[in-house]
Amino acid sequence: MDLTRFPRAALTDGPTPIRSLDRLSTHLGGELNGVRLFVKRDDVGPVGGGGNKLRKLEFLLGQALAERADTVITVGALQSNHARLTAAAAARLGLACELFLTRSVPRDDSDYTGNGNRLLHELFGARVHLLPGEADSLGYAEARAKTLRGEGRRVCVFPSGGSSPLGCLGYAACAAEIAEQAAVLSLDFARVVVPNGSAGTHAGLAAGFWAMGHDPRRVLSYTVLAPPDEAEAATLARARDTVALIDPTLAFPDDGIALDGAHRGPGYGIPTEGMREAVRLMARTEGLLLDPVYSGKAFAGLLHDVRAGAYPAGAALLFVMTGGVPGLFAYRGAIAGG
Ligand SMILES: *Cc1c(COP(=O)(O)O)cnc(C)c1O
Repeated sequence: MDLTRFPRAALTDGPTPIRSLDRLSTHLGGELNGVRLFVKRDDVGPVGGGGNKLRKLEFLLGQALAERADTVITVGALQSNHARLTAAAAARLGLACELFLTRSVPRDDSDYTGNGNRLLHELFGARVHLLPGEADSLGYAEARAKTLRGEGRRVCVFPSGGSSPLGCLGYAACAAEIAEQAAVLSLDFARVVVPNGSAGTHAGLAAGFWAMGHDPRRVLSYTVLAPPDEAEAATLARARDTVALIDPTLAFPDDGIALDGAHRGPGYGIPTEGMREAVRLMARTEGLLLDPVYSGKAFAGLLHDVRAGAYPAGAALLFVMTGGVPGLFAYRGAIAGG
């Protein structure tokens, strides 16, 4: 898989580490059913606090710089990690940034509306526009881009989560990185597990594995945003588009997406008991931070399935830590105590 023809902005520091969860594994003991757990640290990165959106932004902003853009606009929920990392990366690259944020989670307390990512959006210098939950944020972003272009600015608009086919290439590249690291570690990961929000992380990984001749169903996501049917259709569509961008002679298989909807709880951004347990367990046994909206729910799903005996003894599973730590401060009430 050759992605060198796509321009990339340097927002990452080379391969992110993979390591085994030894203390968590000792703690779980027999509940593990002999499975070996590993994490890939996509939550660490050199810009904006790190997180999975940096890999997508490398391609999105690489293209924007090639087009000599001076302004980027993106959209997201009030506590969007993608919006934070877009603002930080824009600051790093000397671009102006505007964010259209929707109140899609039913919360109006100050932790949610003013702390966590909301604090950082403005700290990184972005101009923030707040919209009601049901607003067509991308429509507003496009309208704003048109206005700014009328004033002579050169504007790029990125979709929610940066999950355009170009953005998804960031995770196709990550699939190649995982394959190389697995070879060095002499590990064959039975599953690569990720949260699914805007579907780009899963779609990019699945497209990348497929383009390298691997089974794309080795990637498993837990949806935390769309209901499972919708999430699967969106992930499949993005994987197809991403494969088409990598190599137009390839076609992504109709059954290439493995997705689980059982750990989303009542809806996007609404805490679950499984999320709380997963966040605490990882913090207390490994000193690692999951987030309340994405990785906490996905890791809860992984723990549930491992405990239920879904994997044979000896299987090695790789959980991709996607970041989102600022979200913990917006969910103080759900995380504190216990
Ligand atoms: C955006 C995000 C995800 C989900 O990635 P998608 O590509 O949108 O599916 C997972 N974890 C964190 C912390 C995120 O910010």
